[in-house]
Amino acid sequence: MIQTLTKIHNFSAGPGILPPEVLKQASEACINFDNMNLSLLEISHRSKNYVAVMDEARQLVKDLFEVGDDYEVFYLGGGASLQFAMVPYNLLTETGFAAYLNTGVWASKAIKEAKILGNVKVIASSEDKKFSYIPKGYEIPSDADYFHCTSNNTIYGTQMKAFPKSPVPLVCDMSSDLFSRRINAKEFALIYAGAQKNMGPAGSTMVMVRKDVLGKTTRKMLSMLDYQVHIKGESMYNTPPVFPVYVSMLTLRWLKQHGGVDWIEKVNQKKADTLYNEIDRNSCFIGTVAKEDRSNMNVCFLPTKPEYEAEFDKITKQYNLSGLKGHRDVGGYRASLYNALPQESVDVLIDAMKEFEKKFA
Ligand SMILES: *Cc1c(COP(=O)(O)O)cnc(C)c1O
Repeated sequence: MIQTLTKIHNFSAGPGILPPEVLKQASEACINFDNMNLSLLEISHRSKNYVAVMDEARQLVKDLFEVGDDYEVFYLGGGASLQFAMVPYNLLTETGFAAYLNTGVWASKAIKEAKILGNVKVIASSEDKKFSYIPKGYEIPSDADYFHCTSNNTIYGTQMKAFPKSPVPLVCDMSSDLFSRRINAKEFALIYAGAQKNMGPAGSTMVMVRKDVLGKTTRKMLSMLDYQVHIKGESMYNTPPVFPVYVSMLTLRWLKQHGGVDWIEKVNQKKADTLYNEIDRNSCFIGTVAKEDRSNMNVCFLPTKPEYEAEFDKITKQYNLSGLKGHRDVGGYRASLYNALPQESVDVLIDAMKEFEKKFA
């Protein structure tokens, strides 16, 4: 059935593309999960079959990040946006302060929430140039409670290619480039990511935390906002987002089976290189961010003349290209090249750009 649908090349920034085999398996589980003759959606989250799903979803994160038992992984509702509040709630002490790197809309929202809960120092920002680059050469204060950064700026299309050596616990929002490339996860105290960019459907957020950073605040903790409660509950303190976690598990399994992060990094690098090369070559388009900070996940580009936009929209439609509209803050186009997007889709986009240039340049 799936094969007979028109092939759409899905560049959506989020919720984003998932592997077709994952979608197929997920849809089957909605009817008959694990040969139980019951839907995944109508069984107890504490049933043996579902506990196995949750355990695998948590373990796959540790496997792919190659971390040991000093880290805990759990899945929560509330999106990455809830983590903007939960991180300071759990890590920011009453007398201390947190250091933040401001690289865009999501980082700004994280800063806003942290400021409600305590003291925050924004130690570097790229707001002066509309977040079109990643600040470098800043110093992380050694007396901060933690340092927070955003690995990939989904809206403006910049990406941290390296992470600073941090004298304090390093916390990162990896929502839009989780498991897209090799990183040294052991350098991080806490990593979180909303599932819907690169891992699964909206509705669950993965949190991985090194246990030694917890328990330092003296505030009275609300149970649902307390990481330690969710760790103790093995990600089932309350009913977890069962379906999003299941689909995320399938995607991580898919990634591991295909060769893991080393495999996908090569695939992703090739997709990004071919598209950026075309943007640089093609006289009708121009990239929007500093070259050294270009995101391999969200490729932002503008038409060189505003009147091109309506015409290029027509061509992208003919080529079955979907989800290319740029964020309203940037305009133009944004091609999101998440893990499940095949090289073929990038090649079709490039064909469309070439045809456009032939016709209009
Ligand atoms: C999309 C996104 C978010 C927000 O995620 P929600 O799940 O909608 O709360 C946060 N950070 C980054 C980097 C994102 O791309």
